[in-house]
Amino acid sequence: MAQLSARFITSNTEYKSCPPARFPEFAFIGRSNVGKSSLINSLTFHKGLAKTSQTPGKTQLINHFMIDDKWYLVDLPGYGFAKVSKEKRRDFEKMIFDYLINRENLTCLFVLLDIRLKPQAVDIEFMNRMVEHEIPFYIVFTKADKLSQKQVNESVDAYKNFLLESWDELPEIFITSAEKHVGREGILDSIDELIKS
Ligand code: GDP
Repeated sequence: MAQLSARFITSNTEYKSCPPARFPEFAFIGRSNVGKSSLINSLTFHKGLAKTSQTPGKTQLINHFMIDDKWYLVDLPGYGFAKVSKEKRRDFEKMIFDYLINRENLTCLFVLLDIRLKPQAVDIEFMNRMVEHEIPFYIVFTKADKLSQKQVNESVDAYKNFLLESWDELPEIFITSAEKHVGREGILDSIDELIKS
């Protein structure tokens, strides 16, 4: 699949200032360091589009990119970093949830999880809130190249079983490696399908 046309539009601290909701929108979120910037760069084949390896939690903005003049890709700030005051964390959560709950053209959220980690409370709590608010989301496992295929399967199965203890059904799941450009087509195809439907 070819490089997508991608250009930065705006960075905002609140959903009300986001660009007019004229295009379907797909947002990406996950814990700091999960590999979100790398995945966005891999999806678009633009190396420097999203900035990789910044100080965790430093950039707390809602970043909009226009893709192929057809849809918005939104880079949401990483959550779950430790070195932030309670007050800052509250403001930050409010910004994200205001956006997620109110953004009318948000078609689907991609929640990124590091494939090497067991289910983490912060991710589970976040996804449970998505379920509660009926915000459609898919799960994306990142950094699959860091495990063998056998370990990948075991890790994903264990995660699914964990989720099925409290959920009736699972969202769509993608296994990716930004490093090896694995899983890119699956995500882009699913976005295409959602745009067409
Ligand atoms: P972000 O904070 O979620 O935006 O994470 P980054 O994209 O900055 O990545 C955090 C670290 O993980 C960096 O050192 C990346 O090089 C590394 N990383 C990200 N994606 C991958 C991947 O698919 N494979 C490997 N091996 N490393 C990755």
